[in-house]
Formats: sequence, structure tokens, C-alpha cells
Amino acid sequence: MATPAELRHYLACWFQLGKSVQVQQRGLSLCPSPVINHGQYSQAFEDCWQQLQLQGLGQCFLEGTGQSLAELLGGSWDVSDCARCAMPIVQKVGGLPEISCPCHDLPNWPNTELPALG
Ligand SMILES: [Zn+2]
Repeated sequence: MATPAELRHYLACWFQLGKSVQVQQRGLSLCPSPVINHGQYSQAFEDCWQQLQLQGLGQCFLEGTGQSLAELLGGSWDVSDCARCAMPIVQKVGGLPEISCPCHDLPNWPNTELPALG
């Protein structure tokens, strides 16, 4: 299953590419910037993470995906790497990869110039 640390890393990677997390029913769309500061998660990222938990992870979806963040922590999903771009993606435990990586609609990707997590 995905751990909170894995989920944070997963979100951080996608935030860096401009993907946001949509909070259903609230009409919120969150994408902190910067994501990484001095090799660590930025304050903006930490504030966003707090906000997502306040809103309820069951209401939060990474743009372009169909699983709530709560589902990802629920034990049925693993974080693995996209075969195309090595970005973290989620995959159903014991199942075939059935969802596409959120990279599918990004032009000019992969891009190796983004800052890496320290
Ligand atoms: Zn990908």
C-alpha cells in the first residue's frame, strides 16, 4: 500500500509539473509553488498537504486520475514508476496496470531538467 510519505512524494512530483489536486464539492484546485526548497518540501507544499487533510483526502483527486488520495492510502494501491517517464504512478495491488500515468497529456515530456528532491 502507499504510505503517507509515498503519497507526498507522488504529489510533489506531479505538482512540479503543474498538475493540481482538485477538491471535489469545494471547487478547489491546489498546486503549491515552489514544491521543493533547499532540497526539502517547501512551506507552500506543507501548507497544501495540511489543507488537503483538512478538506478530507477522500475528496481530493490528482488532476487526471480517478482515485481519491484517501483510496491511495487505503491499502489497495501501490506507488510504482511509469514505464514511459519514471514518474511515480499508482497501481492497483495485485492487478495489471489499468490506469494511465498522468503524464499522458503533458507535451515535451520527459523533462530531466526539473529539480530533484534532495
Ligand atoms: Zn508517465
